[in-house]
Amino acid sequence: MKLTKTNYYSKNSDQEYMSYSQFKLFDECPAKAMAILKGEYKQEETDSMLVGSYVDAWLDGEIVKFQERHPEIFNSRTGELKASFKQAQDLCDLIAKDEYLYKQLKGRRQVIITGSIAGVKFKGKIDSLLADKIVDGKVLKDCEDIWKDGQKQPFYKANGYDTQGAIYKTLYKQMKGKDLPFELAVVTKEKTPDKRLFVFSDETIEEALQEIIAKAPIFDAIKKGEEPAWNCGKCDYCKSIKALNENSVEEI
Ligand SMILES: [Zn+2]
Repeated sequence: MKLTKTNYYSKNSDQEYMSYSQFKLFDECPAKAMAILKGEYKQEETDSMLVGSYVDAWLDGEIVKFQERHPEIFNSRTGELKASFKQAQDLCDLIAKDEYLYKQLKGRRQVIITGSIAGVKFKGKIDSLLADKIVDGKVLKDCEDIWKDGQKQPFYKANGYDTQGAIYKTLYKQMKGKDLPFELAVVTKEKTPDKRLFVFSDETIEEALQEIIAKAPIFDAIKKGEEPAWNCGKCDYCKSIKALNENSVEEI
C-alpha cells in the first residue's frame, strides 16, 4: 500500500510495514507487540506522550485541530490548559524564540519515507526534513542517562533514538540516494527548560543498524505468525494477562 498522512498509522499500514516504534515494541515484548497489532491491547497514551504530540502539532500548524481532538488537555472546570500542556505551550514559545532551533524544526514537516532493511519493509515519518539533514524533535524530561536493563545508558540509547536514526537514514538513502545526517532537536521539561542539538556519529548509527538487521527478520516472522511470540513477563501487558498457579510461588 502507498502510505499517506491519513493511512500512516492505520492497522493495515502497521501490518505491512515495520516502524521504529513497532521495532521497539517487539524488542521490548513480542507478545505485547502482537496484542497491540491485533487490537487486543491498547497502550495507554500518557500525558507525557501527549505533550510531545502537542509540540509536534504546533510545529505542524495544526494546534487548533489537536486541541479539538484532545479535550482532555483542558481542565473541564476552568477551560484552561492543564499544567503539563501549559508547559507544552511554553516549550512551543521557547522554540519560536530561538531562531536557529525553529529553523531546524520547520523544514518540510512529516515527510513519509519507506524502504526495506534486511528484507523487511519499513516506514518512517520525518519530523523536519532540511536540504542537508533529517531532524527529529524530542520533548524530554532531561538529557541524563537512564537506567535500563540493569545498566545506565545514554538517553538516546535507552529510548532507541539511535535505532530511529539508523532506520530513517537508511530509508531516505534508499529513496533519494543521499546519506543525510540524523539530528535530534531536544527541548527539556526541566524547571528551566534546556535546548540541545545532537547529531549521531556514523559508528553509533552503524551499531544500531546491525542490531536492526539481526532482529527485524525475526520480528517480521513473528508478525506473520511464522514464529511464536514470546512473553517478556515484565511489561504491563504481560502483567495484565498473568494467571498464577502452584509454580508461581517465589521463594524469598
Ligand atoms: Zn511483556
